[in-house]
Amino acid sequence: MTALRSLSLRATMLLLGFVSGGIALMAGLSYRDLRDYTAENSLMRIERAAKAAASLTEARFPDAFLVERTDKDLPALVRLKGSEPLISRAEPAAFDRLVKEIGRINNGAANVFAWNATTQAFDRFATTFRRPDGSLPPAFSIGAGHPAYGSIRDAKVFTGDVPVMGRMRYAYLTPIVFSGGELAGLLAIDVGWSDDLVTGQERLKERIFIASLLILAIATTIGGLLHWRMLAPIPALARVAHRIGAGEQGISVPGLGRADEVGHLAEGLERTNQLYHELEILAFSDPLTGLGNRAHLRRELKRTFAREAWTQVSALILINIDQFRGINEGFGATIGDRLLIEIGDRLKAWSGPDNPRPARTGSDEFALILRDCPPERLDHALDDLRDRLSRPWAFDGTIVEFTVGFGVVSLPAHAANADEAERNVQLALRAAKARGKGNVSVFDPTLDARAKREHDLSIALREALQRNELTVHFQLQASTTARDIFGLEALVRWPQGGGSMIPPGEFIPIAEANGLIVELGSWVLDETCRVIRQWLDSAILVPHVSINVSPAQLWQPNFVETVKETLERHRIPPRMIYLEVTEGLFVNFSEERIQSIFAGLHAVGVKIALDDFGTGYSSLGYLHRVHLDQIKIDRSFAVDIDKDRAKQRLLKGITALAAGLKLEVIVEGAETEAETRFLMRTGCNAIQGYFFARPCSALLVPQEIENVRRMLGLLNFEDNTPLSKAKRSTG
Ligand code: C2E
Ligand code: CA
Ligand code: CA
Repeated sequence: MTALRSLSLRATMLLLGFVSGGIALMAGLSYRDLRDYTAENSLMRIERAAKAAASLTEARFPDAFLVERTDKDLPALVRLKGSEPLISRAEPAAFDRLVKEIGRINNGAANVFAWNATTQAFDRFATTFRRPDGSLPPAFSIGAGHPAYGSIRDAKVFTGDVPVMGRMRYAYLTPIVFSGGELAGLLAIDVGWSDDLVTGQERLKERIFIASLLILAIATTIGGLLHWRMLAPIPALARVAHRIGAGEQGISVPGLGRADEVGHLAEGLERTNQLYHELEILAFSDPLTGLGNRAHLRRELKRTFAREAWTQVSALILINIDQFRGINEGFGATIGDRLLIEIGDRLKAWSGPDNPRPARTGSDEFALILRDCPPERLDHALDDLRDRLSRPWAFDGTIVEFTVGFGVVSLPAHAANADEAERNVQLALRAAKARGKGNVSVFDPTLDARAKREHDLSIALREALQRNELTVHFQLQASTTARDIFGLEALVRWPQGGGSMIPPGEFIPIAEANGLIVELGSWVLDETCRVIRQWLDSAILVPHVSINVSPAQLWQPNFVETVKETLERHRIPPRMIYLEVTEGLFVNFSEERIQSIFAGLHAVGVKIALDDFGTGYSSLGYLHRVHLDQIKIDRSFAVDIDKDRAKQRLLKGITALAAGLKLEVIVEGAETEAETRFLMRTGCNAIQGYFFARPCSALLVPQEIENVRRMLGLLNFEDNTPLSKAKRSTG
C-alpha cells in the first residue's frame, strides 16, 4: 500500500494506463476497419461469383433456365422453363461440366441440389468437390437444421457461412423453382473456406496483441527507469525534510546543483536547513561563551530522559563561580566576561565530544551533562573537573583566583524527569554554596525534604510576620574594662506553640531568599526601638543596642531614611543604635556604594559594626577604606581560645589592628569561664557569650544586667573564685 504512495510508481502506472489505452483504441479501430473491409470484400466476391454462375447457367441451358434478378442485378431465383424435373433436363454430365466451369470462374465450389419432396431436403447431385483420390464425395443433403435451410425452403436467396465437412464456406445459394413456383432445387456456389477469408484479420489481431504487449513492456521499462532515475532523489529529499523538521543538525541535502525541479527543491531545503542551523544557534546558544544556553540544557535533559532504557547512568552538574560579583566589580566587567569565556572553554575541553555541549545557564552558572558516569566514577570526575576549572587564570598580566561550587544529581536515580533534574541540581548547588566556597554537593533526598520544609517555612513566616507573632530577644555584652554591661544585641525570635522557637539561623536565610527579609528587618528595627523607648521611659539604662541588618535591607534605596524615621518616631537617640552588617556585603557590592550608605547612616548618627569577623573571605583592606565603628570577632575564635596558641596570636593581631584603626572589638561566643577569663585580658572591649548571658526577653533584661554586673565584679576583683560557682549561686 505504501508503495502506491510513491510518486514515481503512480506516475508510471498512469503513463502505462494511457499508453495501453492508446494502443487498445488504435488497435480496435484498425481491427474494425479491416473486419469491415474483409466483410465487404467477401460480399463483393460472392456476389460477383453468383452473377457469373447464374449467367453461365442461363447460357449453358438456354431452354431450361431463366434467371430472375434483383435491382442490383443479383440472381434472386432460377426458374425452370417447362415442367420436367430438374434432373431430367440434361445429362448429369452436363451439370457436372456446368459446376466445374462455375467453380473455375469462382475460385470456389459449385453444387446443384434437387428438392426432394419426400425427405423435404435438397439432395446434391452435381458438385465440384472431389475426394483427394479424385472420386466423388459421399451423398449430401441440406435439410432442417442447416443455416440456409429456412431461407431457401422459402425460395429465397441465402448468403453467408455454411458448414462443409466440418468447416465453413462463404456461399451464395440461389433457389431453383418450377415455372409454377414450387421448389425444384438449388444452385449453390461459394468462394472458398470462410476462415481463409479472415486470415488477414486474424493475423492482424495476433500482431496487434503481441505488438501491444511489446510496446507496453518497453514503455513500462523505459518509463519506470526514467522516472526512477529522475525522481530517485525525491524520497531522499523527503527524508531530509523530515530530519530538518525534527531539528537534526549537520544534514547534507542530496540533489543539490541539479538544474531541474529536484535541484530547486534541494536548494530550498538546503536554505531551510541553514536557516534552522542559524535559528538553532540563536535559540540554543549563549552568545558570550559559545556554549549552549538554558534552552539547550533543557532540550538535552529531555533527550536524556527520552531514551527508553538507562543503559548509562548520567550526571547533571551545575557549576557556579563563587562570588563572581566580587570579581566583576573588583576587576571590571571585561575581565568578568573574559573569565566566563575562559571557564566555558575549560568546560568544553573537559567534557569532550562524548557528552552534550555544556551550557551557560545563568550569569555565572554553567551546566554539564555527563553521560556514562556511574557513582563510583563521579567522585573522581568531580575532583578532576574542580581542579581543572578553578585553576588561577591570568589575563593581561592580572591573575584572577577563584573557586567554583558544584551541585550534582545522578540520573536517573535522583530525578524522574528533566524538570526534577533541574530543580534538584539547584538544591544541590544551593547546599554546596551554603557550605562555603569551592564545595561540591551531590543531591540526596534529604535536600528535597529540606527544600520542602523551607518552602513551608517561607509561607508560615510571612503569616507570622503579618500576625505580629515574632519577637525580639536581647543578649548582653559584658565590658572588659568596666564592671558593667557594654551593650546588647537584638536577636529576632519566632516562637512556636509550647515554648519552642524556630532558630533565626533557619528562617533568616529563607527570608533573605524570598525577599521577606526587608519587611522582617524593618519590623525588628521598629520593635527594638519600641522596647528601648519603654526602657528609657522606665529609667532602665542601657548603653546601646545592636541590630542585625541583612544586605538586602541595606540596598533598599530608602534604608537610611527608614532608620532615621524609626528612630525619630520612637524618640531614640541615634547613638544608642549599632547596625551589624556582615562581610558578605563586600562580596556582592562595590566599596563605593557601601561607603555612601554608611556615610548616610553615620549622618543619621548610628554606628556600624562588622559582624562575624574572621569567617569571611574578604581582605582586611576594607577595614581601612570603609568607615566602621566596631568589629565583632566570630564565635569560632572564642572556642578554646584559652588553649589554642594559634588562635591567641591571631586574636592579638586583630585586636591590635582594630585598636590602630580605633575600632571597638567584641568577641562573640565565650561559653566557658576559661575562655572568658582569657578574653578579658586580650584587649577587646567586650565579650558576648553564653557564659555571661543568653539572649532573653526584654522583660528579663534588667535582671540580666544585674547578673552580668555581679559576675564582672567577681571576675575583676575576686580573681581566684571560680566564677561559675558564683554565677550559679546568683542565677
Ligand atoms: P549573629 O548576628 O552572629 O548573632 C549571634 C548568635 O550567636 C545568636 O544566635 C546568639 O544567640 C548566638 N550566641 C551568642 N553567644 C553564644 C555562645 O556563647 N555560644 C553559642 N553557641 N552561640 C552564641 P541566634 O540568635 O540564633 O542568631 C543567629 C543568627 O541569626 C545571628 O547571628 C544573625 O546572623 C541572625 N539574626 C538574628 N536576628 C536577626 C535579625 O533581626 N535580623 C537579621 N538580619 N539577622 C538576624
Ligand atoms: Ca549579630
Ligand atoms: Ca555574629
